[in-house]
Amino acid sequence: MSDRITAELLARWVHEFSGLVGVHHDRLNALDAAIGDADHGTNLDRGFTVVAAGLPAAPQLPGELLSHVGQTVVSNVGGAAGPLFGTFFLRLGDAVGNDPDLDARRFVLGLRAGVAGVVARGRAEAGDKTLYDVLAPAVDAIDAAASAQYDLPDVFHAGLLAASAGRDSTVDMLARKGRASYLGERSVGHLDPGAASACLLFTAATLALT
Ligand code: ADP
Ligand code: MG
Repeated sequence: MSDRITAELLARWVHEFSGLVGVHHDRLNALDAAIGDADHGTNLDRGFTVVAAGLPAAPQLPGELLSHVGQTVVSNVGGAAGPLFGTFFLRLGDAVGNDPDLDARRFVLGLRAGVAGVVARGRAEAGDKTLYDVLAPAVDAIDAAASAQYDLPDVFHAGLLAASAGRDSTVDMLARKGRASYLGERSVGHLDPGAASACLLFTAATLALT
């Protein structure tokens, strides 16, 4: 198994994520209905349908491809999720650069830049019940697995395990950011919709390798 990450693999990742967002559209809306305004699945699905349709004509270098995805997300995904997911891909694209293929280490640096971009935009901290509670532990796990020289499937699998645990941990949290924070104590006991969708990024990464 090669540990190189090519633009083709990255495009498959984004394509798989777009597909999962379509499959989970109703569930993401239902999660958002409980603690928000029921549009999270619709927001993401509308934007990532445009993203997926544009992939065949997208740039074929890693950084340019991911920046193109980020721009398309910012322009086509509504709600809080648009700028947050868009910034994640834009910063990831900027950070990985345009070597035709990346090693896992550089990809990890890119993911960290993406998460830093999400924080710069939304100011979320751990425990605020947002997608940050998935992204941060998942990227830490990917970092640790890549540092231990795991093969790429195991690196992404480690990310998915941590992402799933992070997603589930949001159930007991009290929302401190975004629309759900208006509910105060009533936000407790519900899975955060953005955490659910962010987890799909890591499901998509494992699917892209198969
Ligand atoms: P909106 O709340 O505008 O309807 P969405 O429903 O598309 O937007 O997205 C809601 C999700 O966005 C939440 O579940 C949460 O994970 C995430 N979110 C909201 N505000 C923030 C923030 N400041 N930082 C990080 N994530 C946030
Ligand atoms: Mg919403």
